[in-house]
Formats: sequence, structure tokens, C-alpha cells
Amino acid sequence: MRFSDIIGHDDLKQRLAAQIDAGRISHAQLFSGAAGHGSLPLALAYVQYLFCPNRHDGDSCGECPSCRQLSELAHPDLHFVFPVNKREKRSGEAIISDNFIDLWREIWREKSGIFSLEEWSDRLDLGKTMKGMITAKESEEIIRKLSFKSFSSEYKAMIIWLPETMNQEAANKILKILEEPWDKTLFILVSEKPELLLQTITSRTQEVAVGRIDTATLERVAREGGITDAAEAHNIARLANGSLLELQALLRGESDEARQRSFELFCRLMRLSYSDQHLDLFEWADDMTALTREGQRQFFLNAVRLLRESYMLHAGLGSISYLWGEEAAFCRKFAPYIGNQNIETLVAEIERAMLQIAQNGSPRIVFTHFALTVSKQINRL
Ligand SMILES: [Zn+2]
Repeated sequence: MRFSDIIGHDDLKQRLAAQIDAGRISHAQLFSGAAGHGSLPLALAYVQYLFCPNRHDGDSCGECPSCRQLSELAHPDLHFVFPVNKREKRSGEAIISDNFIDLWREIWREKSGIFSLEEWSDRLDLGKTMKGMITAKESEEIIRKLSFKSFSSEYKAMIIWLPETMNQEAANKILKILEEPWDKTLFILVSEKPELLLQTITSRTQEVAVGRIDTATLERVAREGGITDAAEAHNIARLANGSLLELQALLRGESDEARQRSFELFCRLMRLSYSDQHLDLFEWADDMTALTREGQRQFFLNAVRLLRESYMLHAGLGSISYLWGEEAAFCRKFAPYIGNQNIETLVAEIERAMLQIAQNGSPRIVFTHFALTVSKQINRL
């Protein structure tokens, strides 16, 4: 993967290339940002640039053996660590990333390195409650691998995706590794939630913030993806909110269906809330529990958007051009129920529930509590 394959982030790519050109290569770096911002493929492009013997014009050549091996995630000097798990493991069975490297390459190929933890968990077939993690055994494996001399490159690199999924023991071991820099060895931590990492780990890394992709770039991608109408391309780009992952979902049309389902769940929750139908709220929580993790995440993202747009409508600042047909009708009716007195609490509740789900809280408990809290907030009016 070359820098030119990475969508957006032009300034950042130039800066990263310039650092390598100048020989300023920090041995531990933290690429932080949402999955849809593309921090994972950017980390790979960075390593590819570093390893390429023929780099020119601020990019790797894309053709040498090193570049080809890296593009296929099959370079002997690049290692990956990512959260894994499996059902029905035997007691004491060690589960490490290498066991799942084929699945990992498969999802990369399909999604060009841009996918969410939820999609990865669904790919691992972990079901609704089991979560992937990085264990202490994996840290031992990292040390073992890095003890070998590099095969063909000057450097060795280790990309650790979602270090926030490390357990305490693993985190302590990684910390030890970071405390003693290894010669010509590069660690890249790619995190969506760096605030969950040990402060002692983040303080030893150089942060590379991978922000939202700008709307103009996403608009171009939308047009290249077949959206010919300029207003629609702009609307989709804005809905994607800086995330290529969301944009791709919108373009695939999958999101039409996902958004429709999220919208129905949202309407139902709001109707039950203001009519104070508690028993039905439990049923609603059951329906949420039955969704895939990705479906649950989509619901939350859509709920935040709909609440914000309703609030804007209430405040007289909104424009329904940013809502889809039936959403506009619902939000206009619903807007009077959303104001300064509850918008922040509602959005905070959604963020809290998302985090609890991501941290493996029981979906039934999380959604039941969430539904009751939302109901109180809407009902107070
Ligand atoms: Zn090359």
C-alpha cells in the first residue's frame, strides 16, 4: 500500500515521508483515530515507505519485492498483532494473532485495511458477547519474533492494532518492550481509543493523530463511486462525517438498509419513551441485543445524528436537507422534545452505551438501562 493509495490526509502523508527522509524515525508511534479515518492502512503505507529501497517523490515505488510483500501483508520483517479470540477454546490454549493471519489478510484485501473492530469480531465469528483481545502470550510472541535478525530490510516493524484491547498483563509486558528501544525496530500502535491505554505507554510513544477525512475528499470519492448528482454526493459526504467506512457503507447502499433499520429502532424507542411504555422498552432492548455488533454500532451513530439534527431543528438552526425523506418528517415532529435540557445527556448516554458494548458489557443489560434512561429524559418534558 503506497501513500497515494491512502485517501485524504495529504499533509500528514507528506509530513510522515519527510520524517523518514530526514532519518527522524521514532521507535514507538501511536497512530490514533477512528477506523474510518484510515489509520491502519496509513500505518502500513508508512512502513512500506520506510522499507522501500526505491522510494521517490514522497512515496514508495510499489513494485519492488519489499513493496509487493508488504501490500500482501506477507513481508517477513513486518508483524501484526490484533485482538483475537475463538469460541470453544480448550482451557490453557494460547490464542495469538498468527493463528488468524489468513482471516486478517482476507479482511484487509476486501476492505483495503479499513474496517471496524465490530466487523473484525463478526469475521472471527465471536458471537454477541465474546470479545477479541491481545493477551500476555501475544506479548511473549512479540519478543520472540523481534529477537530474530531482520530478513531483508534494515528495519523490523510491528503494527499493533487496537492496543486498548490488551489486558493488564499484556499491557505491562508491552510497556517493558517500549521502555527498552530495540535497535532498528519500529512499533506502531494503531488505536481508536488512546485514552484507554496506560499513560505510561502513551508517554513512550510519539502520537500521530489521524483525523477526519475532509468532506471535499469524501465528496470526490462519492462521485467516483457512481454518485452523479452533486447535491447527493455532498450530502453523502457530510453524512459520512469524516469516515471512509461510513462513506463506503453509504455507497454500497448497505447503509440504506442499515439506516432504515436504525431509523425504525430509533422511532420506536422515542415513541415508547414519550408514551412511557416500560414493558415494550424491554422488548426493544431484546431486539437491539439481537443485532450484530456492527448493526448496534450503526444504530448508535444514526441515533446521535438524528438527535443532533432534531436539536438543530428545534433551535431553528437546522436544515432538513441533511436528513433523508422520512427522517425529516419524524425529526420535525420530534424536535420539540429535544432541547438544551436533554440533548447533552442523551448524547452522553449513547457514548456511554457504545463504550460499554465495546468493552464487552452484556448487550441486554446495556440496552435495557439505555432504553430506560432515554425514556426518562424524553418523558420529563
Ligand atoms: Zn518499493
